[in-house]
Amino acid sequence: MALSGIGVSPGVAVGPVRKIAKAQIVNAVPASPREVFAALAQVAQDLEKSAESVSLDVARDVLAAQAMIAQDPALVEAIGARLTDDITYPDVQPAILDAFAGFKSALESLGGYFAERVADLDEIAQRTIAKLSGTETAGLELTAPSIIVAEDLTPADTAALDLNFAKALVVQKGGPTSHTAIVARGLGIPAIVGCAEVLSIAEGASVLVDGRDGTLIIDPTDSEISTHQTREEALRARAASVQGPGRLLDGTPITLMANAGNATDAVSAAAVGAEGIGLFRTELLFLDRNDEPSIDEQVELYKSVFEAMAGHKVILRTLDAGSDKPVPFINAIAEENPALGVRGWRLTRTADDVLTRQLKAVGLAASKVATDIWVMAPMINTAAEAREFAKRARESGIKHVGVMVETPAAAISADKVLAEVDFASLGTNDLTQYVMAADRLDSRLSDLTSTWHPAVLRTISIAATSAGNLSKPIGVCGESAANPQLAAVLIGLGVTSLSMAPSALAEVRGFLAGIDRATCVRVAGLVSNTSSAEEAKALAVELLGN
Ligand code: PEP
Ligand code: MG
Repeated sequence: MALSGIGVSPGVAVGPVRKIAKAQIVNAVPASPREVFAALAQVAQDLEKSAESVSLDVARDVLAAQAMIAQDPALVEAIGARLTDDITYPDVQPAILDAFAGFKSALESLGGYFAERVADLDEIAQRTIAKLSGTETAGLELTAPSIIVAEDLTPADTAALDLNFAKALVVQKGGPTSHTAIVARGLGIPAIVGCAEVLSIAEGASVLVDGRDGTLIIDPTDSEISTHQTREEALRARAASVQGPGRLLDGTPITLMANAGNATDAVSAAAVGAEGIGLFRTELLFLDRNDEPSIDEQVELYKSVFEAMAGHKVILRTLDAGSDKPVPFINAIAEENPALGVRGWRLTRTADDVLTRQLKAVGLAASKVATDIWVMAPMINTAAEAREFAKRARESGIKHVGVMVETPAAAISADKVLAEVDFASLGTNDLTQYVMAADRLDSRLSDLTSTWHPAVLRTISIAATSAGNLSKPIGVCGESAANPQLAAVLIGLGVTSLSMAPSALAEVRGFLAGIDRATCVRVAGLVSNTSSAEEAKALAVELLGN
């Protein structure tokens, strides 16, 4: 029998299931406010200790962050506001959960990465209650290689596991940016998240986990095991076999770059042989900043990324604050419809000085490095916006000026928009959300937010054809560039470069090396003429292979 979920870390593993059960607290938990605060402080200390003892960097960082949350004065204050008398309350659970609920809903409303951090708050609340009620459970002890199955995996669960024995992780909840996904990628083991039925598997049952396609097979046959393992090995071998700049089979160069949010990402990009940074998301440097960094500080931050790519190209994107990426010092206004509101370049309407200072800092940083700096603005919708951005960027000393094409308006009128600038980059995450009118953060709509949808492919085709007519480069820097078959289709539609997570680069490079340009064009035409994302993807896989 097979189950499916979202594959978030590739690889194939076979082994017995070990389940991590959550402690259930059903009874009332009597305590005084003093005891509650002491328990919370103790939880913070335990988390700090776990952070020190865990060997995996990503788990350590998250545990340290959780320890800080548990000590946050705002949280202590919120609990204190609900437990005001110096008495032993018959049950403190409602007060604790209610205090945490306020923080949780604030994170949830931000969506995406932030929404998935709600699990951190749950973890701290449950640990505090467990400590007060004396129901803390010891971590699962592993003595043999196992497939770890859980409702969700918190960093504290991970810290308590002997990761030498964890062959794969499968969880019922979570998304691509959940802890399980992060930890699994850090360990290099397969993982599946959002596997709805996984908790129904019996403890000890033998399962196969394929973290690439998100398949879990219970009691797999030898032939099923060998099919999955052989395919995985072949894909890895192909990725390892091609080095150097991106090329199609016929020699057509396709620049393959990596996306980065900071200097560490840029170092990873250089390590996998990226030909540059195709998207430097500058807002990611500032998501936790209440005050705008000074121009000098910005110069240093930008320079640290540029220097990691010395001798190559870096495409910096000006602040894409707003919507799914709220930057505290810039997004003061609550909006009914933030994805359609004041975000990206539109912030010139409400916080123009911030963008002026950023452009100044970028120009200064660019003048100090031996890196080829290109700069683009997000959420450009009209030719007038493109013209205005280009003028201001050039005044700041920036030589190569471009726009992100992320809205249907920009794509449909790309002949006019791109006439104002030197290059374009298709932000297919947003372009898909806006073409399909489906929130990219809403997992209930994930079937609609697929770049494979022919409506999205046709829109990309319009923009890429206009760029070609103007002889201007047009890349893709959305998630779609990381899918090998979709990458080939995008090239067939006229895209000239691709930028993706560093971890995806080798596979895309290996795949494209086996396909010529004429095939890309033919397949792009055929899949654009299907009537659904599923049909388009299936046809591309059939014609291009795995
Ligand atoms: C995109 O929208 O595709 C993109 C690359 O930008 P972001 O994901 O940062 O919005
Ligand atoms: Mg975008």
